[in-house]
This record gives sequence, structure tokens and C-alpha cells, in this order.
Amino acid sequence: MPPRDRKSTPRLGFRVAMANLVTAAAALLMASALLIAFQLVSLRASLLEDLRVKARIVGDNLAAAVMFGDRGAAAETLGSLQASPSIVAAAVFDPEGRTVATYSHRGDEPLVVPGPEFAAQDHRFTWHTLDLVQPVEHGGKVIGMVRVRASQDGLYSRLFAYAGTTVLIAAGALAVAFLLVSRMRRAVLRAEARLDYLAYIDPVTNLPNRHAFNERLAYALERADRLGERVALLLLDLDNFKIVNDTLGHHRGDALLAAATHRLSEGLRRGDGLCRIGGDEFAFVMEGPGACDEAELVARKTLAALAAPFSVDGHDIYITASVGIACYPNDAADLQTLTRNADTAMYAAKDRGKNAYVRFHSDMDQRARRRLTVETQLRKALERDEFVVHYQPVYDYRNTRIVGVEALVRWQHPEQGLIPPGDFIAVAEDSGLIVPVGRRVLALACRQARAWQTAGFGPLYVSVNLSARQLQENDFARETIAVLLEAGLSPRLLELEITESVLMENTQAQTLLDELQAAGVRLAIDDFGTGYSSMSYLKRLPIDKLKIDRSFVRDIPADRDDTAITTAIIAMAHGLGLSVVAEGVETRDQAEFLRVHGCDLMQGYFFSHPLPAGELGELLLRHASPLAPVA
Ligand code: C2E
Ligand code: MG
Ligand code: MG
Repeated sequence: MPPRDRKSTPRLGFRVAMANLVTAAAALLMASALLIAFQLVSLRASLLEDLRVKARIVGDNLAAAVMFGDRGAAAETLGSLQASPSIVAAAVFDPEGRTVATYSHRGDEPLVVPGPEFAAQDHRFTWHTLDLVQPVEHGGKVIGMVRVRASQDGLYSRLFAYAGTTVLIAAGALAVAFLLVSRMRRAVLRAEARLDYLAYIDPVTNLPNRHAFNERLAYALERADRLGERVALLLLDLDNFKIVNDTLGHHRGDALLAAATHRLSEGLRRGDGLCRIGGDEFAFVMEGPGACDEAELVARKTLAALAAPFSVDGHDIYITASVGIACYPNDAADLQTLTRNADTAMYAAKDRGKNAYVRFHSDMDQRARRRLTVETQLRKALERDEFVVHYQPVYDYRNTRIVGVEALVRWQHPEQGLIPPGDFIAVAEDSGLIVPVGRRVLALACRQARAWQTAGFGPLYVSVNLSARQLQENDFARETIAVLLEAGLSPRLLELEITESVLMENTQAQTLLDELQAAGVRLAIDDFGTGYSSMSYLKRLPIDKLKIDRSFVRDIPADRDDTAITTAIIAMAHGLGLSVVAEGVETRDQAEFLRVHGCDLMQGYFFSHPLPAGELGELLLRHASPLAPVA
């Protein structure tokens, strides 16, 4: 993985939490200190107030004793202060400053006459005591002075109790805050980890996702630059995953993906990073000096790992993959080009019939550019109406009668002559131009079939090939019926050919096909045996005919596998009530073998090559009465 510093995040988080806590503690401490200081001030104020009241009462009570110089009465009055334990000493003086009487609670030294320190205010605080001076008056005249001393010990013990409680409450609040903060932090960390997981991991397979893949690849390239090493990128696309998903449901599709992931990762070294970068697309990033040399071995292992069937919910599922390999820096100088080239190679593997791996080659780039030129020329060809249709007859071998024709498009290029469909159909499909081209072929074929019918060649059906893109057109059924009407051809005489894989990959086309069948149009599966039809699906579709792919016909009757497959397809088709056409029949032996096994409809060079309409008309004329086939 790229160096995402997962460890430093919690440490940093811890420090931030601690810093917050210390700040909170400092704030609480300061608040407590202020509260305690305030409490000290207010306790002292009330002590002073209390002392002042008591001093005034004692002063009033002493007035008579002072006036008459009655020391005994004065001492007795002062002695009444015993009832106030906070007052530790007191003394009363005459106007000349002589002591009249004293009082001491704990036997302290007697108080002396107040000095100049009491000139500004009537009281004075020391650390332990509070002294207050109160004049003794009689009839508005000062006749003496009483000095009272209170101890602050009681005040301090109350202050300590207050401070203790405050600190306890603050500490409790801090502890609760700490608990809440750490609990919240844990929750946030968990949420972060989950988000991190979702942002980088695909939940179905638990593999790094496309986002993680991009980071990882960028990191691998950077490392390769630094160390002078290489990086191999393998892009793997499951060939028929969509069919599984559509026919068995998404949850089984997911289960299959997980099972495939398990097998893929088992065969890899730990360092080879496997990622899921799309629905059925995976990527391996291989690093190290030998990465590019080992890439093909890994690709082979990968294909082998998928070979055995997967068992999902009791269904045995076979899947294959196409793998494209590109190497850094040999095939590409940057990440985007590397990915694009691996993709190009992967599509080349698909073009080679899937279940294969292809290493990127610079020719592929040129091929891509050539495709672009062909596309531009195709557009012009449409404008100039350069497409023509050739017709290959379909024979009923029992009586060598032509029962129908297959319409096969050709491009009449002004300079390059007649171009076969194999050279331009793929580009037309990729660019979407197949839609107008197909429309043109359908119109020409229907008109031609109607012309032969008018010429008296009997009810000859015409078969037209369809591409996936045409099936995706919304009003394809309506358009087809309009073409038939315009040509004046019965829908019964039109057959549409769809390859097995197109049919399986466009399961949503069923409604459209039902609509066409309801109108009377027939439907054939082309190149049957090369795709991956599911039997249940075949039964559901409105199909009339199977066309056995010519790759099976080529080696019959010599090849045992092919003879077995061919006879099995014929038996299965008849079992489903479908008719069968064998394609690519080139020899009498093939034709005989097929006839013996119940396949009566045949098409191939043994009977006739595809011909321009005019030549086919002549052939039809010769076959108006039963004749030997033209080989
Ligand atoms: P396909 O539909 O399977 O057509 C049969 C192909 O086999 C034709 O090639 C035909 O010329 C060839 N063929 C017939 N008999 C024999 C034989 O005995 N031996 C051998 N080796 N080949 C034989 P063609 O005309 O080159 O067409 C190739 C493919 O192009 C067609 O395969 C079809 O898939 C596609 N195609 C042709 N016309 C159209 C069209 O109008 N629209 C679309 N979408 N595809 C078309
Ligand atoms: Mg065909
Ligand atoms: Mg075919």
C-alpha cells in the first residue's frame, strides 16, 4: 500500500485530546482559585461586620463603667465576650490611653492601646487575627476606647473546607469530562476507521477498490523510478459475469465475485496487490525487478485458477477471464498510458476469443488509430451509400432446394474494392454506426426478398444479422415492422440472426424479441455453440432456429469432439422444437454426416458462396427445378 500513515493519526489524536484536557484543567484550577479568593474576601468581610456589631454592644455596655472608672464592672462586661469564641482578646482604655480592663480568652498577652496604625481605619487584619477599635461614648462624647481581637482560625478552617469541596467538584467534573472525551474520541476513531475502510475497500470482495488502486499504482511507479525497477499492471475482466448476474441474481453474482477473489488471491504472492476496480474488473500491480517477466506467468496462473467451476448456491458456474498486461516503463511512461495500454491489451484478449491473456504491443496502439480512420471512412460510406448486400443460399439437403438466403453486408469501397464485414463491423459496432448500416442492410434485404417473390421464386426467407447495439435501440421492433410494410414482405419471410453472446449479454432485449415474434418475425441464434447460453434462458426466449457455428462443422466427421457437439446441438434443438441450420458446410462428407444426424438445413461453400443479388437470381432460376448442388 502507499504510505498512508495510519499509526501517526491515533498518536496525534491522543496528544490533541491530552492538550484539550490540560487546558480544561488549567481553566478549572484558575476558576477555583478565583472562587476561593472571593470566598476569603467575603468571609473576612462578614467576620469584620460581626466583630463590629459585638464591639459596639460591648462599647455601649462599658460606657458607665469607664465613666466612673469602675474597673471591676468593666472587666465583667468584657468577660461577657466569652460567649463569642472567635473573640480571643479585648481591652478598654480611658481617653488618656490607660488600661481600664482587659480580657483574654486563651491567656494571651493583654492588648495594648491602639497605635497610629488605626488612624486611617478602625480595623487591621494580620495573618491570624483581626483587630477592631471602637470608641466608647456617652452623651455624644468619646470617653474611652475598646479594642477587640478576633481569631481568623475559624475563618481559615471554613475556607479550607470550601476550597477542598471546590477542588473536589472541579476534579470530579474534569474526570467526567475526561471520560466523555475519551469515549467520544473512541467513537470518532471507530467512525473514521469505518469511513477509511469504505473509501478504500470494496465491501463485496474486501479488496482495495479503484481509488486505492490508483494510489497504489502511483506509489508503485514512483518507487520504480527511484529504484530503477519495473511495474507490471495486469487488468483482468471476467468474460461472462454479466450473464451470471442477470440470470442468477445479484446476490449470487456477489458470492461468485467473492469466491473468484479468494481463488485469485490464493495464487498470488503477498506483494502482488490485487484490487477490484469495477463490476467484474480486477487489477494486479506487480513490483520488483522481475515483475514484467513474471507477469505472463501470473496471468496464466490466474486463468488456471478460474478454470474449475464455482459452486454458488448449488449452481455450478464456469467463468473465464481476459487479461491484459502492460509494463512500466517499457510500454508506457505514465500512469494513464499504462492503464490505457493494459486495457487495450485486455480487449485484444477478448477479441482473441476470451479466456486468454495478451501482453500490450505498440502495434495495438496503431490498430486503435487505424480504427479511427476506418470510422471516419464508414461515415462517408454511409453518406455515399457504399454498402451492398450479398446473399448466401440456405439449402434443404433432402431435396437440394433453396429455402432461404442469409443477407451479408459488404462495403463497396471506391479504391479498395469489396471489403468483407470482418474488416469493418467491429468498428461500426464500437462507434454506433452499425445502427444506420444495419438499417440499410435490413431495407435492402427485405426489398430484395420481395423482388424474388414477385419474380416467382416462391416464399424465400431472408435472414439478416443483428448487432447488440441495434437491440438497444428503443423502437427497433417498430422500425423493423415499418421496413417490412414498406417492402411489402410478409414478416414470416424475415429472420433475424443474433449471436449467442449478444443475446446473453442483452437479457433486457426479451420484450423487444417478444414483440417481433408477435408480429411474425422469426428469430435465429447465430454461431451457436461458441457462447455460453443457459438452457433455461434459451427455453424462455422466442427462438425458432439454431445455427451451428462453422467451427464445429469444419472438422466433422473426422473429429470426435466436434461430431459429438454437433449431434448434441441437433438433438437439443429438436428437443426444444427448434429447427437447425449448419453453417460453413464445405464438403459432401460434412453434408452427408449432418443429414444422417437429422440436420437438413445447410449453408456453406459446398452449396454456394455469398453472391450479389443478380447472381443469386440466376442460381434460383437454375434451382427452380430440383438440381444437383453446385459445389
Ligand atoms: P455469420 O453471420 O456467421 O455469417 C457467415 C459467414 O460465414 C459469412 O462471412 C460467410 O461468407 C461465411 N461462410 C459461409 N459459408 C462458408 C463456408 O463454407 N466456409 C467458410 N469458411 N465460411 C463460410 P462474412 O460474409 O464475411 O460475414 C462475417 C460475419 O459478419 C457474419 O458471420 C456476421 O456475423 C457479420 N455480418 C455480416 N453481415 C452483417 C450485417 O449486415 N450486420 C451485422 N451486424 N453483421 C453482419
Ligand atoms: Mg449470420
Ligand atoms: Mg454464423
